[in-house]
Amino acid sequence: MAAVNSSSQDSTYDFAVVGGGIVGLATALSLGERAPDARILVLEKENAWAAHQTGHNSGVIHSGIYYKPGSLKARFAREGSRSMVEFCQEHGIDHEVCGKVIVATEPHELPLLENLYERGMANGLHVARITPEELREIEPHVRGLAALRVFSTGIVDYTQVARTYARLVEQRGGDLRLGTRVTGFVDDARGLVVETSRGAFHARYAINCAGLHSDRVARLAGAATGARIVPFRGEYYELRAERRSLVRHLVYPVPDPNFPFLGVHFTRMIGGGVHAGPNAVLGTKREGYRKTDFDARDFAEVMTFPGFWKLARRHWREGGREVARSLSKAAFVRSLQRLVPELQADDVVPAHAGVRAQALLGDGRLVDDFLIVPGRRSIHVCNAPSPAATASLEIGRAVVDWVARQDDAPLSRNLQSA
Ligand SMILES: Cc1cc2nc3c(=O)[nH]c(=O)nc-3n(C[C@H](O)[C@H](O)[C@H](O)COP(=O)(O)OP(=O)(O)OC[C@H]3O[C@@H](n4cnc5c(N)ncnc54)[C@H](O)[C@@H]3O)c2cc1C
Repeated sequence: MAAVNSSSQDSTYDFAVVGGGIVGLATALSLGERAPDARILVLEKENAWAAHQTGHNSGVIHSGIYYKPGSLKARFAREGSRSMVEFCQEHGIDHEVCGKVIVATEPHELPLLENLYERGMANGLHVARITPEELREIEPHVRGLAALRVFSTGIVDYTQVARTYARLVEQRGGDLRLGTRVTGFVDDARGLVVETSRGAFHARYAINCAGLHSDRVARLAGAATGARIVPFRGEYYELRAERRSLVRHLVYPVPDPNFPFLGVHFTRMIGGGVHAGPNAVLGTKREGYRKTDFDARDFAEVMTFPGFWKLARRHWREGGREVARSLSKAAFVRSLQRLVPELQADDVVPAHAGVRAQALLGDGRLVDDFLIVPGRRSIHVCNAPSPAATASLEIGRAVVDWVARQDDAPLSRNLQSA
């Protein structure tokens, strides 16, 4: 055991990665590839990898059509959709590049659909405009005024991907600890003492990939990120087995450009089944997957954050609609019927939910892109929203690039990209 309690040997890790979701594990993988001699520790509070966002998502390999050209999201998704498929091929992970359609069902969505087409082209993607008749050939039960076909979108199980990252990190000498919650950081002569629920560990540098708790872990390390994590729960329904034929691929609406979420959509899952969702309601617990889950501290931290009230004042109408859709199956099904008119309430049953970690700024703006903030002897991934699972290998590499640029980072010369 390389914890500080054993003072007889040099038990100092070069890097302690906090969080065993797909971003933390991809970062550990990238650290090991760039600096094979680095001593890497991964600390995850749950007893399994991918227990939160990574294990509760839609399982889509995103193409990058939605994101502003030049943004990290656009670049990472485009490169990530390729590298994720290559990684799955190399490691025998089930996946499928099935493509998707984005469907305009209202006249006011037509210019937004055209904007998406232009974004897709600007982002270098293989996208085609399709007519309602062509849409019917691809998806016989879907109706719309116009649609786009995006060819590079795929599906995968990100829990399997994350477990494979963990296995590779371990095979290359990394030390992986489940059931180990980070509770604090203290500076000492060798770097940091990382305090955990299972004792203390010495590390020269910490990398915070704690997802829904990333702002808290940053505060523990004394880093000022300026952002607060607000949990947005996303609920799914599932098509009954006998009605799965209503959807052949992935079917998305045109998203509201004022929000970072994509609107409820149909997703064929890699393990079989078709999921419909997710909506986006304010969560009353950061890792709460049931409607009744509540955590007083989590809730109070949102309610006392001035940025939340600024956001709420601007978007109370949309927020109200999301709550209605959460409380009423009929309202949820009405949203889905815009895409598949023949769908009936009896065709769907409730499925899992996920909670998104969305960083919010004090002025009420939702952070749209990835946010990485350096601290003392540490770096903090404070916003890693969708498509972070798709782009996890790219994000892992980018985090390591950031670390390599910090004056106080160990092995920074080894970490610099070739
Ligand atoms: C509903 C939903 C749908 C999505 N759909 C998609 C999609 O289709 N495609 C896509 O690319 N992306 C999608 N995403 C986004 C994607 O899932 C996330 O961006 C990604 O999983 C983030 O990974 P992460 O490692 O940062 O976070 P997480 O997976 O949440 O991992 C963070 C880990 O840190 C651990 N942790 C927290 N605090 C501590 C502590 N103090 N000590 C030790 N460990 C700690 C947690 O237990 C957790 O395991 C979706 C997300 C959601 C919620």
